Amino acid sequence: MHIERHLTCDVLVVGTGLAGLRAAYDVAADGLNVLVISKGRLCSGASFYPLTGGLGAQLPRDAADKNDYLEELLDSGDGIADEHLCHIMVDEITDQVGRLPQLGIEVAQAAGRPACFAKRERILKVWRNWDRIRKNVTDIFSSQELLTVMQHCDVLKLLHRDNRIIGALLIDNNSQLVYVKTSTVILATGGYCGLYKHSLNTDDVCGIGHSVALEAGAELINLEFMQFIPGLTAPVYKLLFGEISLWHCQEILDQDRKPALRAFLPEDVSLEQCIRDRSMHGPFTTRDNSKYLELAIMKDVIEHHREQGFIIRYKQSINEDSNELVASLRKLYADHDIDLAKQEISIAPFAHCANGGISIDEHACTSVHGLFAAGEAAGGIHGADRHGGAATAVCLVFGARAANAACTYSKQTSPPEVLSDTEIVDSFMQWIDTKTNSSISPHDVLHTLREQLWLRANVLRSKELSLPVLNWIEKTRKAYNAARAIESGYDVKLSMQAFHALRTSESLLKAILRREESRGPHYRADFPNRNEALTGKRIKVSEKDHEIIVSYEEGKRP
Ligand SMILES: Cc1cc2nc3c(=O)[nH]c(=O)nc-3n(C[C@H](O)[C@H](O)[C@H](O)COP(=O)(O)OP(=O)(O)OC[C@H]3O[C@@H](n4cnc5c(N)ncnc54)[C@H](O)[C@@H]3O)c2cc1C
Repeated sequence: MHIERHLTCDVLVVGTGLAGLRAAYDVAADGLNVLVISKGRLCSGASFYPLTGGLGAQLPRDAADKNDYLEELLDSGDGIADEHLCHIMVDEITDQVGRLPQLGIEVAQAAGRPACFAKRERILKVWRNWDRIRKNVTDIFSSQELLTVMQHCDVLKLLHRDNRIIGALLIDNNSQLVYVKTSTVILATGGYCGLYKHSLNTDDVCGIGHSVALEAGAELINLEFMQFIPGLTAPVYKLLFGEISLWHCQEILDQDRKPALRAFLPEDVSLEQCIRDRSMHGPFTTRDNSKYLELAIMKDVIEHHREQGFIIRYKQSINEDSNELVASLRKLYADHDIDLAKQEISIAPFAHCANGGISIDEHACTSVHGLFAAGEAAGGIHGADRHGGAATAVCLVFGARAANAACTYSKQTSPPEVLSDTEIVDSFMQWIDTKTNSSISPHDVLHTLREQLWLRANVLRSKELSLPVLNWIEKTRKAYNAARAIESGYDVKLSMQAFHALRTSESLLKAILRREESRGPHYRADFPNRNEALTGKRIKVSEKDHEIIVSYEEGKRP
């Protein structure tokens, strides 16, 4: 392998979802030279997930509501959210949503129900129509002289010395290696839900940012808290389920067409209670009786080796409901030729969103000088459960903050040390060469990993279920040789995706197994109750001597 191109920039932004777009625009507006790269095309990732009706951000109603909003976030966060960072988000989100038109994103207002996990309705700003936004962003970005976009370009490794960023190694859309000389990198690579077989993410959202950050010396936090939302397995695979439709649920059946849920409910929980609770929020949580639906689905999936989940049949009344959210769900489904009053759907828990990620402070700084993280890639802001509309808020608020801090850092920092091409390639190959002759291919790695994560590290988790996945990952990390895969002709991006996927999944699994309690979206069948002693205790992941280490950090108790 050899380096084909050399580039220099003041700031490298990795990712063109909401957080990357915000950060890249702001860096260029500050007069710095910014290179923005994206594994997917321009405007990709969860921010542009095709099978949903749009995205929304939750705003405080007015200045007086800010405190209530913050209290609610901390309540849902259940001792895991960072009060200071949540405070910043509540304080700045209204202004940041007001700046969306700069990026060519027009917002509208919606109503219908409090956001997921919120106690009261607030201002909900929504945007949709990805094609129009992509066209607007393309026009806006191409008119900025200081901004260069490279689509279908992956970061493979960050270059660093003495806990300081000095560049990055990329692979571009022509599969050529690119050495970027820069002192400053903003990772806006999204979450890691694309590691799962069934996910409501696109395949480019696969945890590479977490792996490269870890290798550079940054820490990951709260990985075990991730959101699973039901997705459709049929008739339109990967279409987002609208939990509000459960207001009109006729019956829930298993794939043998037998009543599915009742047998899994404890004696003191009625079917109606479970369904009513489940209609109030999209993501799975252990906090109320809604949890029995997805736990039942996963038990059924595991016992009967079928992944289609449960069938839902609706009453005719779903077509008569004038609630704004029900109406927009009907429209989304009609766009996919589904009439819920006539057709049944099948649902199962899909990996949806990471509440944890690369640990950042209020300026989006990681513990590595010159390395910033924003959006879903960043962690430590949200707690166990996170409000609907708070993920986009974090992208916008901390995307802008990352840009601001990165510009300040870049201006104050002398040009990075320059490495020779040989030095870079040799150390890269050394990193990914496990010196084994195993013939396991990147396809095998990703296929098995995706299946195992979905089956064994889904909403239903336990030592018995999840430990075998960790054991498999550890064994496979030793056996899988990305250097050999590349040398023998496998695509570099694919070979490296498998390499990074194993590293991020090991971090995730270690965090899942370490948290021996159930809290928010993290359910352990072997520890089904919340453990008060773990309130405020957050799990951090770091890497030392190539070993991935998890430990409890004393969190900032709200
Ligand atoms: C169906 C759905 C509905 C949602 N609805 C809401 C909602 O209404 N409100 C809300 O608050 N949140 C919602 N969320 C969550 C929210 O959309 C995401 O958290 C947010 O959009 C993430 O944005 P991001 O910019 O951090 O990452 P993403 O949008 O995921 O973008 C990641 C970017 O990084 C790039 N990338 C990844 N790896 C690499 C690499 N190695 N090299 C180069 N580039 C890389 C990708 O190609 C992509 O461009 C929803 C999520 C989904 C999936």
